[in-house]
Amino acid sequence: MSTRIGVVGSNMVDLVSYIDRMPEAGETLAAPSFAMGHGGKGANQAVAAARLGAEVLMVSRVGEDLFGEGTIRNLRELGIDTRHVWAVPGQQSGVAPIFVERSGENRILIIKGANEHLLPADVGAAAADLRQCGLILLQLEVPLDTIYHTIAWAAREGIEVLLNPAPAVPELDVSRILAASFLVPNQTELAILTNMPTDTPAQAEAAARSLVARGLRTVIVTLGADGALLVTDGPAVHIPPVRVQPHDTTGAGDAFIGAFAQHYVRSRDVAAAMRWGAAYAADSITRPGTQKAFADLATFQRFRA
Ligand code: ATP
Repeated sequence: MSTRIGVVGSNMVDLVSYIDRMPEAGETLAAPSFAMGHGGKGANQAVAAARLGAEVLMVSRVGEDLFGEGTIRNLRELGIDTRHVWAVPGQQSGVAPIFVERSGENRILIIKGANEHLLPADVGAAAADLRQCGLILLQLEVPLDTIYHTIAWAAREGIEVLLNPAPAVPELDVSRILAASFLVPNQTELAILTNMPTDTPAQAEAAARSLVARGLRTVIVTLGADGALLVTDGPAVHIPPVRVQPHDTTGAGDAFIGAFAQHYVRSRDVAAAMRWGAAYAADSITRPGTQKAFADLATFQRFRA
């Protein structure tokens, strides 16, 4: 089995304005500071896996702009294979303008831009390279047709797929994702997928079981500060959280999935890969930022020691 990881997914540039307050309509206000960061769930998961040493291939679309060039350079510098990361003519890169008030309250806009142009044909064009992967990661920041196509294609090829149904898309058709080996929602995404309460670990387990009853093989629910839950047709396994003092929890889910994937392709041990992912996510939330907070292998091993 190959230890290469394919990511068919999004990239975004986070544009973070730190503000005293939001301006009123028609008002112009000075604000204290601004920061930019690479993001997008697909790119974040690719980066987490690559930081830990995995060989990662990314299939993604950027815009014909400076953000697109910067995104490709960032992925390349991390050793990610970007032969299938291209600019879509006439499109803008995906961006996320984020406004953070002094209280920590934030407002986020997502403008998917070129990510909406990652089409089934693009996955077809990357098929020869995706075939070399032992696991493909998908999220929901690219068109649903691309998700359904990739899952069906990978099933025919005998390649395992992990689908992170984030952000929640109510129109997701569960009957078209059943061939994915892993579905990895957080509690909110699981609630939207199942129309069931998921506030407690017991409720989350019942909701995940309803998806297994519909034909999904393995559901991994991330429970934030409560750790994670593995639900299959056997007894559920609870993976406890690694206790830390959280600083910034954004990107915890992406850290968990990237690290899970990097471990799983080598071990094929789901529970061990979840423990590794939970520890990596815990380490990442002790630092600010998203990709910037993802440790390399040596730093992560010091955290675990
Ligand atoms: P985000 O949307 O912020 O990226 P998420 O909602 O997708 O995150 P969570 O379920 O919040 O994902 O977190 C993913 C994993 O990170 C959890 O399963 C857990 O292992 C770890 N984690 C998150 N928050 C904490 C915390 N406060 N303490 C320890 N571990 C945490």
